[in-house]
Amino acid sequence: MVRELQPGGAADGLASAAVPALRARHGPNALPPERTRPWWRRLGAELTHFFALMLWAAAALAFVAGTAELGAAIVVVVVVNALFAFFQEARAERAASTLRDLLPARVTVRRDGAATTVEAVELVPGDVVLLAAGDKVPADVRVLSGSACRIDESMLTGESEPVPANPGRAVPGGAFVAEGDAVALVEATGRSTRLAEITRLTIRAAPPPSPLDRELRRIVRIVAVAAVTVGSVFFVVSVLIGNPLAGAFLFAIGVTVAMVPEGLLPTVTLSLAVGAQRMSRRHALVRNLQAVETLGSTTFICTDKTGTLTQNRMSAVEVWTPRGSVAVDGSGYAPTAVVDGPSAAVAAAARLAAGARAASQGDIEERDGAWQPLGDPMEAAIAALHRRLGGDAAAPAADVGFAFDEARKRQGAVVGDRLWVKGATESVLGACAFGDADGAAVVRAAMEAMASRGLRVLAVASRPLTRDARRDALAGRLGPAELETGLEFDGLLGLHDPPRPTVAGAVAQARAAGIRIAMLTGDHPMTAAAIAREIGLVDDAVPGVVFGGADLPADPRALGALLDRDGVVISRVSPEQKLQVARALQARGHVVAMTGDGVNDGPALEAADIGVAMGRSGTDVARNAADLVLLDDDFATIIVAIEQGRATYANIRRFLTYHLTDNVAELAPFVIWALSAGNFPLAIGVMQILFLDIGTDLLPALALGTEEPSEGVMKRPPERRHLLDSSVLFRAFAILGPVEVLFQMTSFTLVLLAGGWRPGGALPEPGLLAAASGTAFTAVVLGQLANAVACRSASRPFWRLRWNSNPRLVAAVVAEVALLGVFLFAAPVADLLGHAPPPPAGLAVAALVIPGLLLADAVHKDLRRRLRRGLTHPVLPHH
Ligand code: ADP
Ligand code: MG
Repeated sequence: MVRELQPGGAADGLASAAVPALRARHGPNALPPERTRPWWRRLGAELTHFFALMLWAAAALAFVAGTAELGAAIVVVVVVNALFAFFQEARAERAASTLRDLLPARVTVRRDGAATTVEAVELVPGDVVLLAAGDKVPADVRVLSGSACRIDESMLTGESEPVPANPGRAVPGGAFVAEGDAVALVEATGRSTRLAEITRLTIRAAPPPSPLDRELRRIVRIVAVAAVTVGSVFFVVSVLIGNPLAGAFLFAIGVTVAMVPEGLLPTVTLSLAVGAQRMSRRHALVRNLQAVETLGSTTFICTDKTGTLTQNRMSAVEVWTPRGSVAVDGSGYAPTAVVDGPSAAVAAAARLAAGARAASQGDIEERDGAWQPLGDPMEAAIAALHRRLGGDAAAPAADVGFAFDEARKRQGAVVGDRLWVKGATESVLGACAFGDADGAAVVRAAMEAMASRGLRVLAVASRPLTRDARRDALAGRLGPAELETGLEFDGLLGLHDPPRPTVAGAVAQARAAGIRIAMLTGDHPMTAAAIAREIGLVDDAVPGVVFGGADLPADPRALGALLDRDGVVISRVSPEQKLQVARALQARGHVVAMTGDGVNDGPALEAADIGVAMGRSGTDVARNAADLVLLDDDFATIIVAIEQGRATYANIRRFLTYHLTDNVAELAPFVIWALSAGNFPLAIGVMQILFLDIGTDLLPALALGTEEPSEGVMKRPPERRHLLDSSVLFRAFAILGPVEVLFQMTSFTLVLLAGGWRPGGALPEPGLLAAASGTAFTAVVLGQLANAVACRSASRPFWRLRWNSNPRLVAAVVAEVALLGVFLFAAPVADLLGHAPPPPAGLAVAALVIPGLLLADAVHKDLRRRLRRGLTHPVLPHH
């Protein structure tokens, strides 16, 4: 059945002669250009950031100083680091391009009365396009006629099922024809389409740099300044005390290389990847790696209600009409249920349910023996209600339907000589003509009684149409704005949407973890408040506040101050307000996670530190703008992801401590050598340092990055400390590092002395220094072995850690010892490093570093705990 609705010329399409002028006026039918950087620029950036530049400089110095192997080794480090970062980065840069993929390349139009195929870019407003199953809708169009046509708008609106393309329906560019075919009139093209608006907002709403980015930049800055300062000071000193210039040069390089933790960046990336992998096992999919750490620092969650806090399995449990109310007992979507109420009320309810169903797209369907919603669950619930009240299996046919509009918050349809409207109560009641003020007051009281029980309330109203009005409506000359006035109020639908069972626990957990939660919903304030109470977002301890979206102040400072508290509910919120809320909270220093499902939520999701989209419901646009996708749509999964994010943050601190400890042992020999004016031999050379940093150290550091969350992570407030703070620095530079140096230099000196060397004297034989250096190297590697165990916890001594809870660390330690063997005993490697295997006595002294370091660490942890306890629980004076 094909109905042509637009009279006259539209059936023939545009005259070709008119196209160029329209094209000139409206521009090409293409989305605004993206600003993505070409791959070579991105790779270039990875090779030229501050950290890399420092290493380039060190490599250059090494070549100048005549140590080409060293220069080459440093170059390899820079390149490997850059490639690693580049490939991780590349995955994140795809977000906006999928918006573009929603538009087709070519499209069939009717021009001069004949169908032709043109490039989609060539479309102009006024064109008549012919759409068939499988086509992408090329621009914003309005359906003129259709034959069994269903359109999948899920990319844009999140409706999971295709909707019938009734004549008069507006279909946004980017939708997809699922079945049948249609003729449609192009209303807006290119930059004027809804998709273009979203693209623009999404590009503009660039998120702030992630906390990890800021932290790593800070660490690199600190390390760089320290390395350059120490390097130049000792360069000068070593020249002053009479070292040759070339030697001092080599020395400067050594210091730089020793101070830069070459293995840090790959370790960070891999620990984030492990965090991401663990999250995905628990239904949280991160779309860029940095999000793992950002999640860990989240301080504020702004969450949707429907579908995230609730199950989005709706059922109409009450119908209120002026003739009495009807209770419907039945969850799920089956067409039968127990109905209870006076017969006049049941009849009125059945009539308004039919009208509401006509003004809907959703339906119910029996699949695999169970009744399932088709389309919007709320509309499916209306269809189920209609049938439970005795309605036909088929929906009453609408002659013309007006799509649900987020701004009007209502939806209408013409059925025979009547217009039916259903939608948000304020919206529909505002369009109703009540005989007397009392009538309106009674309805409002009934509505509030339903809403305060947590029911979502929809109002239904209708009015008769004159023949002229009906004709004009069907011809598209009268739209919802003109028709939906002076309505007769029919009744209220109360829909129940139970909270997810996991949510109350997750809310309590977030509270214990010092994270604030706000509910942002399009629903009525009383419904929202009732649900907030049901899930424990608001309770006796947290009184909470409910704001209407319209009442929020426009000034960002005032907005931030108003919302920065626990138990906030914002009702009747718009997507623009979500964006403002995210920005206002960020301006107060919050790390904001924001959920969203619609296309319009894209900008808010981009702007939030963590945009959260749904894996099952919701739109691809939202998913593309998001950093985190909840595969099960469940709020509780956000909390799971935050816990893992916090664990990852703690792990980064663990291996940061680990890497920095090593730096002390790498730097000390240079300092001693320089200060003794070269009279005390250099214990460890630059090549050995590189083999420590990206050889033996790397696997234990990576394993530390995979520690499981410790029990207390969700019992503390969000981490506000810097990754590199005084406690990390103190532990590495004042405790662990010096202990390592003690055993390194002692074993080194003992081997020299045993070989006949005396302080100030020359070396008796050339092989002695190589053996002593090999001993010092061994002491550092074994020290790092113990250090890996010590760094597993920042507070518990090694004997309180379960040794088998991190099997990767055990494997890494075994591998570390094996590598040490290779570095010492494989002649080519040992020659490159300039050392030889340690003599047995030297090895014994070097091995003492293991108990020594563990003991020192345990004592430090114990002292610090006592000190903390003393500070937080001051001893009360006795009476
Ligand atoms: P939520 O934040 O709970 O997801 P929505 O933004 O989906 O809320 O909806 C906001 C309000 O708009 C609802 O409370 C309802 O009153 C109205 N509404 C939503 N969908 C429809 C629809 N298909 N037809 C009529 N009204 C609707
Ligand atoms: Mg919604």
